[in-house]
Amino acid sequence: MVISCNTGCGKNAVLKRPKTGDALCKECFFWAFEEEVHHTITAAKLFNPGDYVAIAASGGKDSTVLAYVMKLLNERYDYGLKLVLLSIDEGITGYRDDSLETVKRNEQQYGIPLKIMSYEELYGWTMDRIVEKVGRKNNCTFCGVFRRQALDRGATLLKVDKIVTGHNADDIAETVLMNILRGDIARLQRCTAIVTGNEDTIARSKPFKYTYEKEIVMYAYFKKLDYFSTECIYSPNAYRGHARAYLKDLEKIRATAVIDVIHSGECLSVREGVKLPTQSICERCGHVSSQPVCKACVLLEGLNKGRPRLGIGKSSKVQERLGENHKKEVSGKDSQGSNHVPNGVALEGHAEVKSLDF
Ligand code: SF4
Repeated sequence: MVISCNTGCGKNAVLKRPKTGDALCKECFFWAFEEEVHHTITAAKLFNPGDYVAIAASGGKDSTVLAYVMKLLNERYDYGLKLVLLSIDEGITGYRDDSLETVKRNEQQYGIPLKIMSYEELYGWTMDRIVEKVGRKNNCTFCGVFRRQALDRGATLLKVDKIVTGHNADDIAETVLMNILRGDIARLQRCTAIVTGNEDTIARSKPFKYTYEKEIVMYAYFKKLDYFSTECIYSPNAYRGHARAYLKDLEKIRATAVIDVIHSGECLSVREGVKLPTQSICERCGHVSSQPVCKACVLLEGLNKGRPRLGIGKSSKVQERLGENHKKEVSGKDSQGSNHVPNGVALEGHAEVKSLDF
């Protein structure tokens, strides 16, 4: 049975919007999708005219659609932004090398310049080598921490004013659920914030905060965008997988579950006396950290010293131990009494220089 587009445009509907249930033609869906992102951007005042903005680009559907829509809205509404694609090469053979080829094509297709930062150049390690050392249990801890910092370092190097990431409504709702299930209420507020960062850091924002993952897939499909859809070969991420499956089950009985969970996360207030993580600067590498020594430096030290589990344990004990090591390093000796060469992060510091997720 042919159904007419609910907007009354006279065309036949080709899809049912997951977010509203409206039957729409392709053009009316594109328009609704783009206008909602525009509304999110303007309502939250994400940009100022003249801003230089790095789009965290992995070649996946979210960041590819984000790059396409950012360019389109920048031109349609004259935001006055200068855009750049910023990709992180984690060094995952058979995965990231292929997805980066997609980003390189996007660079040509959208006419947005591309900068690639690699773990190899920043940390002296690729994820392939890290997995060889740590196995497949904690690999995503290393990858996530390094990626986050690598994006910041890339953004600093490019001297951008802001970073945008392709995190969508489903990602945020899953993170809310994960934080609740872990009892990590202190992180709830930050994970639902549309903008994170402070005056000392480059602001990161999520223009897709209210955009459903299914609609991003539909948009990419109907626009025939060039994106990479293979999963990382090292992806276990079982915990997020459970949160995702739970959210999908909730959606079957309540279509608005994704937005409702985000809204709940925003409204949950933090009890008085609960210590919220405050962002400062790592005393070793000078990058953003909520601890005296940032997690990237802790993990890197463990890798370089052949003790890759060093950063996986209790953070207070690790910080204590690193504090002792750091004092020895400042006096020119490491724990074995030999002259210490600081790791790559410490050497590069601010001079050089965000990892996507994305
Ligand atoms: Fe890195 Fe993601 Fe692969 Fe984990 S699943 S190793 S975080 S790219």
